[in-house]
Amino acid sequence: MDAFPDIVAAIDRKLDLLAAHSLTRRLRVADSACAPRQLVDGRSMLAFCSNDYLGLAAHPVVIEALREGASRYGAGSGASHLVSGHSRAHALLEGRLADWLTPHIENARALYLCTGYMANLAILTALGADADSMIFSEALNHASLIDGARLAKAGVTVYPHGDVAALEQQLQQSTAGTKIVVTDSVFSMDGDLAPLPALLALCERHGAWLVVDDAHGFGVLGQNGRGALEHFGLRSPNLVYMGTLGKAAGVGGAFIAAHASVIELLVQRSRPYIYTTAAPPALAHALQASLDIIGGTEGAQRRAHLAALVARLQGALRLERWQLAASSTAIQPIIIGSNDDALRAAASLHQQGLWVPAIRPPTVAPGTARLRVTLSAAHTFDEVALLAQALNQLERATA
Ligand SMILES: *Cc1c(COP(=O)(O)O)cnc(C)c1O
Repeated sequence: MDAFPDIVAAIDRKLDLLAAHSLTRRLRVADSACAPRQLVDGRSMLAFCSNDYLGLAAHPVVIEALREGASRYGAGSGASHLVSGHSRAHALLEGRLADWLTPHIENARALYLCTGYMANLAILTALGADADSMIFSEALNHASLIDGARLAKAGVTVYPHGDVAALEQQLQQSTAGTKIVVTDSVFSMDGDLAPLPALLALCERHGAWLVVDDAHGFGVLGQNGRGALEHFGLRSPNLVYMGTLGKAAGVGGAFIAAHASVIELLVQRSRPYIYTTAAPPALAHALQASLDIIGGTEGAQRRAHLAALVARLQGALRLERWQLAASSTAIQPIIIGSNDDALRAAASLHQQGLWVPAIRPPTVAPGTARLRVTLSAAHTFDEVALLAQALNQLERATA
């Protein structure tokens, strides 16, 4: 009796089931840097799928700063932050990020973490550490926020997408000792914005924290690229802000900005911060070059070009059955419906050398499979026109 083949067979049955529902995902191997023109599996593609919104991932100044950071600080940090892995580069980056968020959060301090996924776990497990706390989670929140809420000792209530009135009712009825409202600022699969001013007013009235995941806003939103809080002109001690640094900032990692007491609690207690090796200091060094660009005239120019590209795409699409989501951000999803149709559309674009990912459940709701187009300041108007033309033709051809 050999039980080994059986346990593998059980896994294979799960994989077969995914395939039967057109839910199998597949890795593609990029042979060149993240950029609109990319070598993928050895083939030249025009990509509309990265979150490199400002085109900084392959920016020569950022690459040079990464090199310089490695020369100065080495390849790795060698330990977790509290042991010996906290370098000057981390400290300088955190200082600058705190300065950036100080207009929006009183007595702000910032903390750099390895990934946004971990940052969200860190925030929710620390703020929601007690069983008499309640996390009020927006229905379309990112998976990392869902997982953070699951890992926290707090209870979890989900409120419907964008529904401030429903959230108000939930807050009114709650007797929780600590109330934590948590939302994406820009919804990653839809591109729309959360009603942050209304949410913040509600949180202040109910003495609740407002945790804002600005993964798709930091660097892109706001006059100076400081993100959703700058975009909406918000300021409150109730804000806990999470910005990722692997998207518009082009490098990697994430940061949390909040009142210094919140950050100190995270340093003391938060396992996703404490029990992991600090990110390579060279990344933190390179990120300072990213911040220089984001906050300077070049960043403003890149944001203006990105906005013009979004307008160009919207103006050039002539869709009848497929639906362009109501989004003004760089995330411009085209809702197709069935998994198969979305996959076929993505495959057909791929044949034409256009790389646009099909997003299916469970990432989005069943029946709303979509092409998730993301634009970057590194794209040209011609490239966006090419995409629009291909989409228009493809929709007509599959009628
Ligand atoms: C990408 C993303 C994250 C995770 O950030 P990483 O740094 O990639 O781990 C968290 N929240 C949202 C909304 C995201 O889009």
